[in-house]
Amino acid sequence: IEQTAYRNDKLAMLGKISASIAHEIRNPLTAIRGFIQLLRPHLIKLGKDEYARIILMEIDRANDIIYEFLNSSKPSAPQTTVIPVSSLLKEVVLLTESEALMKGCQVLLHDDILPLHISVDVKQIKQVILNMVKNAMDAFDLLTGENGGLIEIRAHRDNKNVHICISDNGKGMDHNTLSHLFDPFFTTKESGTGLGLSVSYRIIKNHKGYIAVNSTVGKGTEFVISLPIVEIV
Ligand code: ADP
Repeated sequence: IEQTAYRNDKLAMLGKISASIAHEIRNPLTAIRGFIQLLRPHLIKLGKDEYARIILMEIDRANDIIYEFLNSSKPSAPQTTVIPVSSLLKEVVLLTESEALMKGCQVLLHDDILPLHISVDVKQIKQVILNMVKNAMDAFDLLTGENGGLIEIRAHRDNKNVHICISDNGKGMDHNTLSHLFDPFFTTKESGTGLGLSVSYRIIKNHKGYIAVNSTVGKGTEFVISLPIVEIV
C-alpha cells in the first residue's frame, strides 16, 4: 500500500510539472508561429515559402507532442472509440518497421487474433504499445552485433479481458529494475527519460486495465497489457 501511495504521489507531481512545462513551451511556440506567418509574404518573394511551410509544420508537430504528453500524464478520462485489437496492433507494427530494420531486429505480429474489440483512446494505447516495442528494441545488445532480436506481439482473451503480450528475447531485467519499473524517471539507459512505463501505467489504469511483467535476465521480457473486452453483438 505504501508503494502505491508513493507512486501516485510522484505521478501527481509529474502531472503538475509537465502541465507547467507544456504551458511554458507552448507560449513561445505560439509567438514563433505568429511571427513566421507575418514573415511568410517576404519568404514567398524570396522563393523560400518552403522554409515557412516546414517551420509551421514542425511547430505544429511540437505542439501535438506536448498535447499528447499532457494528455497522457494527467488523470483525464480517455477519448474512447471501439476498435478491433488486430487493426490497432497492425498499425503499431507498421510504425515500428523502419526502426526494426535499422536495428536489425524483427517485430512479429501473430495475427491469428480472434475478432476482439476494445474501447480505447487509440492514440494513447498506441503510445503504450509503441513504447513497449521500443523498450524491447533497446533490450538487444547491439554492441555484440548479436543477431536474432525478436519481438513478438500476440493477443488472446479470457471472459473479461483482452491480453496483449509483447515479448522479446533481449537481456531481461534484474530484481532491482523490475521493482522500480513503473516509477517516474526510473531509467537504466544513458539517454532514457524513465517516463515511458510510468505514463503507460497511468494510461492503462485510466482504461480500467492493468499491466503485468515477466522477465528473466539473459532470456527476455514479456509485458502483458490487459484491457476490458467490448462484446459486439
Ligand atoms: P526509458 O525507456 O526512458 O528508460 P521506461 O519507463 O520506458 O523509460 O523504462 C524504464 C526501464 O525499464 C528501462 O530503462 C529499462 O531498464 C527497463 N525496461 C523496460 N522495458 C524493458 C525490456 N523490454 N527489456 C529490458 N529492460 C526493460
